[in-house]
Amino acid sequence: MNLFLFFFSNLLERRGVGAGGMASWEEQLRDELAGRDLAVASVPGKGRGLFAARSFFPGEVVISQEPYASTPNKISVGSNCDNCFASRNLRKCSVCRVAWYCGSACQREEWKLHQLECRAIAALTEDRKKMLTPTIRLMVRLVLRRKLQDDKAIPSSGTDNYNLVDALESHRII
Ligand SMILES: [Zn+2]
Ligand SMILES: [Zn+2]
Repeated sequence: MNLFLFFFSNLLERRGVGAGGMASWEEQLRDELAGRDLAVASVPGKGRGLFAARSFFPGEVVISQEPYASTPNKISVGSNCDNCFASRNLRKCSVCRVAWYCGSACQREEWKLHQLECRAIAALTEDRKKMLTPTIRLMVRLVLRRKLQDDKAIPSSGTDNYNLVDALESHRII
């Protein structure tokens, strides 16, 4: 409990903008989480994690977020929409023939990312295309999303940026 209060008081003294005129991603994250009564902290022996700054009721949503990168777990068979994961009325991208969408709205939403991916997939030989797995595709999409956010081609926020992926702590025991 003391730990929660400590972090909550830290959250209350919000710092202004950084030297460059832009808040750092850590500051942005802290501000966005503070609005949800949450904070990120490191605890010796337990690692880095999310802490509640108040009590949450059973069943109350603590945090909900879109994944940084995602892809259906099947390639080329049209099992799910690439954007919303719907499984009906799917049509495939006519260029790469790997991505599937439930409609033009989902295709448009994904386009900035998919156009880069699409070009790369379309350049593959048929043999190479067969070697594409959901895991490889996910890694490619992760890298592309990071690039698009770095280039400011798509927006990023305190809770939606690659630094959060980069800062994930491994819990693997070596
Ligand atoms: Zn969709
Ligand atoms: Zn495509």
